[in-house]
Amino acid sequence: MGIISQIVFTAVFLGAIAYFILQAKKLYKFIHIGKPLDRSDNKAQRIKLMRRIAFGQSKMFTNVPVAVLHFILYVSFIIINIWVAEIVIDGIFGTDHVLKVLGGFYDVVMAIGDTLAVLTVITCAIFLIRRNILKVKRFSGREMTKFPRTDANLILIFEIVIMLAFIFMNAGYIQRCESAGQQYAGMYPFSSLIAKAISGMSTEQAHIFEHVNWWVHILGILLFLNYLPKSKHIHIVLAFFNVYYSRLTPKGKLSTMPEITDQVKAMVDPSHTPADMPERLGVREVQDLSWKAILDAYTCTECGRCTSVCPANITGKLLSPRKIMMDIRDTVEVSGENLLKSIDYHENTSLLDRISHEELWACTTCNACVEACPVNIDHVTSIVDMRRHLVMERSEAPAALNTMMSNIENNGAPWAFPPSDRFAWADGLDIPTMADLTAQGKTPEVLFWVGCAGSFDDRYKRVTRSFAQILKAANIQFAVLGLEETCTGDPAKRAGNEFLAQMQAMMNIQTMNNYGVKRVVTACPHCFNTIKNEYPELGGNYEVMHHSEFINELFKTGKIAVKDGAFQGKKITFHDSCYLGRANEVYEAPREVLQQLDADLVEMKRSKQNGLCCGAGGAQMFKEAEKGNKEINIERTEEALSLQPDIIASACPFCMTMMTDGVKKKKFENESIQTQVFDIAELIAQAELITK
Ligand code: SF4
Ligand code: SF4
Repeated sequence: MGIISQIVFTAVFLGAIAYFILQAKKLYKFIHIGKPLDRSDNKAQRIKLMRRIAFGQSKMFTNVPVAVLHFILYVSFIIINIWVAEIVIDGIFGTDHVLKVLGGFYDVVMAIGDTLAVLTVITCAIFLIRRNILKVKRFSGREMTKFPRTDANLILIFEIVIMLAFIFMNAGYIQRCESAGQQYAGMYPFSSLIAKAISGMSTEQAHIFEHVNWWVHILGILLFLNYLPKSKHIHIVLAFFNVYYSRLTPKGKLSTMPEITDQVKAMVDPSHTPADMPERLGVREVQDLSWKAILDAYTCTECGRCTSVCPANITGKLLSPRKIMMDIRDTVEVSGENLLKSIDYHENTSLLDRISHEELWACTTCNACVEACPVNIDHVTSIVDMRRHLVMERSEAPAALNTMMSNIENNGAPWAFPPSDRFAWADGLDIPTMADLTAQGKTPEVLFWVGCAGSFDDRYKRVTRSFAQILKAANIQFAVLGLEETCTGDPAKRAGNEFLAQMQAMMNIQTMNNYGVKRVVTACPHCFNTIKNEYPELGGNYEVMHHSEFINELFKTGKIAVKDGAFQGKKITFHDSCYLGRANEVYEAPREVLQQLDADLVEMKRSKQNGLCCGAGGAQMFKEAEKGNKEINIERTEEALSLQPDIIASACPFCMTMMTDGVKKKKFENESIQTQVFDIAELIAQAELITK
């Protein structure tokens, strides 16, 4: 390499690196337009997570062939740095394959690099075919407009050109050495084949061929480097940070807004003086998001895995979690520069100009998107934060949700039932209340939290009674709060009304703490999630179990058993509740309980982590669904019925309603359907219980 070449290369290289640093700095600043959020805790756990999800690509392995192809690109991205280091040294100092001093190690690295280059070309070609010829569904969608589609193709073409240039460069090098009668350094299983094809070249011609491809290769890499910050492919760098700074709390836990806690405290305790309210509640503009939410958006690979599992999107609604991420990023891109210059800048910063109410209200907060995302993006937090703004600042919730919230305020339940009926489910059952037991100087082992559905919904009252029957059969000393119980606040919180949710939470915590409650069991996954994950920050610390876990424990400790063959020959499929499963990772307990029935347990295709929502979570239970081409519960019911089960088992009052409605509708269309829907507690109570 001549001195002129060296000077030109050094200038180009330093210029490219300097420009990349400038862009990286800008990106860093854009991300930090977001509000502060402390994610400096649990370093060891975070490193483990990063190792597994970012380095190990563990979430990609749900589709093994695609995961392997991605893995090839990923490994090649890591290995490329070794040969790029050599190219840069050679380019600046005019050396020739300087790293050959590494001897055998060099041979191995170059052989791996050569193989990876070929595999990368093949992989990129396959990806281009999948996108453009096979038109894999998740790569389409209304957010996949011209730029995202071009961007994805451009990157793949970039990679093909860079790798082909690498292979040709090596072939030229081999031919240059061989025609000069010299031994070349390194091993090149594939480039050596190309070298054979150009074996007619003279040393000089081979040198020019090598040199041209050397330049194409390195310029391609430098161009790629500087294109990255403008492209979704920046995820290859940001994914590591995004995964490291993941939310470590259970997926079902929504943040507790401290500014609201401060206000609510002042309402319940007049001696508490609250701080001034912030300028805005919830998220309207990009600067209202946390820096992590903006990092999420920049890390999005636009792969569409989230959208392809989103129950709202699957059933034709406008919501696409991928679009939410792309909208956040696009808004920051449009207004980031101005925001950095002036904190008062508000033009084009409103996310709500891009994201419609219809999209936000279609979310069931099922967390399927979060579970599916290979880079641990948290869509639900951003969606709920925008709902918080709509509800607490603008009072723009759907009318049915306003009714639900007024019911909670007035009746302590999301439905308009008189609070005095809350304990009517127990009529004639001799169920002890905490007040009764406390008056007798007794402390129960566990508080049975009945929940609003368990107290008022006629269908679910049967589940409440069944569970009480099991508790009695097992001789558990339990009590309920009776008329002192009130809504946990779950639907209000998911609907964005943090004020109401915290008011409810504080009332319940005060009641439970006054009774010295230590252990809580509930048949409702929504109550379970709220009391277990969201009450501790507000002063309510209890051991909380879902009834599936509790019943399972009763079986395991031999406190109850069922007679053999109670449900023998019956086919049962279990529908996972999102707030029990994905939100809290309770998958096995309900299945283990069902195994006691000696029935034929069959799994739906979408089960456990990949279970499909019934359509009722995130306060959807209390409103009409957004416009689509199907109801979510019908989609789920059809999946369950395709297995022709005798029973669809559930472990959640909302799932019970949605699946029962779905089955009713399907029975209306096809009278031969005999499937029934039962809660796991009902099935156990129906089986002949043997008390030990
Ligand atoms: S939480 Fe569920 S409904 Fe909401 S965006 Fe994610 S997948 Fe869709
Ligand atoms: S949010 Fe995650 S799953 Fe969805 S498109 Fe982006 S990277 Fe893919």
